[in-house]
Amino acid sequence: MTEPILPRIRPEIAALAPYRQGKQAGPDAFKLSSNENPFEPLPSVLEALARTTPINRYPDATATRLRERLAARYGVDLDQVHVASGSVAILYQLVQAAASVGDEVVYAWRSFEAYPGLPLVAGATGIPVPLKESGDAESSGRHDLDAMADAVTDRTRAILLCTPNNPTGPVITSEEFSSFIARVPADVLVILDEAYAEFVTAPDAVDGLKERVIEKHPNVVILRTFSKAYGLAGLRVGYAIGQAKVLDAARATGIPLSVTAAAETAAIASLDAEAELMQRVAVIVERRTTLVTALRAQGWKVPDAQGNFVWLPTGARTDEIAAAFVAADVIVRPFSGDGIRISVGEEASIDRVLHVVSTVL
Ligand code: PMP
Repeated sequence: MTEPILPRIRPEIAALAPYRQGKQAGPDAFKLSSNENPFEPLPSVLEALARTTPINRYPDATATRLRERLAARYGVDLDQVHVASGSVAILYQLVQAAASVGDEVVYAWRSFEAYPGLPLVAGATGIPVPLKESGDAESSGRHDLDAMADAVTDRTRAILLCTPNNPTGPVITSEEFSSFIARVPADVLVILDEAYAEFVTAPDAVDGLKERVIEKHPNVVILRTFSKAYGLAGLRVGYAIGQAKVLDAARATGIPLSVTAAAETAAIASLDAEAELMQRVAVIVERRTTLVTALRAQGWKVPDAQGNFVWLPTGARTDEIAAAFVAADVIVRPFSGDGIRISVGEEASIDRVLHVVSTVL
């Protein structure tokens, strides 16, 4: 039989692997592969969801009620808030808007797995800049901001910064950010991806919203999400705070009506229940401390963990150690030849993780 003729696909897209999701877990397994929130949704959020506006109608295209809440909270104008179906959607929207064929997008690597695909889909060129490695485990896995600033050329249209860095864990400090941004041309878009901001305890970490970075640096956009600390990963809702004209570009490239009424409702109900949700965040942070302390006591060189995940630098033994996790019904995220990212999950998962890791020492 002859092969049917199929439509032509751009070769760089045909070669691009689809987003790789953490494996689904069986009933007895701990799923620690996607930096999700282990807690069940709050009853108040479920109740609000059940009352979501009639679903035969389209949602409000720009999620106005949610944007109003976020604008009031951060002291910005309504147009300085953009909401989309996950912050990863906003990453695509902004990169598509800023970069095209012949342009460059600079990002740290290793970092969030979606980053390399962003310039590629836009037809632009990705410029990955290796993270800092240091003999001192606690200070490795950080952005090399000097090298990133050196990588900026007159073709650079966007720079992606991830703090805390997924998957290694450390933050960018305020001081590091200030020195970096001073070296970046004012017409280059800088995306400060703060998906895990609520879990940060490092006192010197940059916080783009608290520090009102967009006022001083109109080229910066700050990304946040309801997927992690707020536990709404399954509903897909994230937001950006930036200058209105910059966000207009994201609104223009975004797929219309992609934030569902359910997602908007649940996000607002989560803001209403923020105190309760932040208590849960504090519990996850405590578990993180327990995990990091125990791993370091076992001799693992774990970098500073500021998100809801921990990086185990397993290097050449990654596949073998990942198999030990699978055998123990713990689903983690291995990066072959490099390391394993373990989300901080259920209380009982901590002991199981530590047990697996102690058996492979
Ligand atoms: N940024 C970073 C650094 C992430 O790790 C993730 C999710 N893994 C996202 C953005 C996207 O999150 P979401 O689309 O669920 O908001």
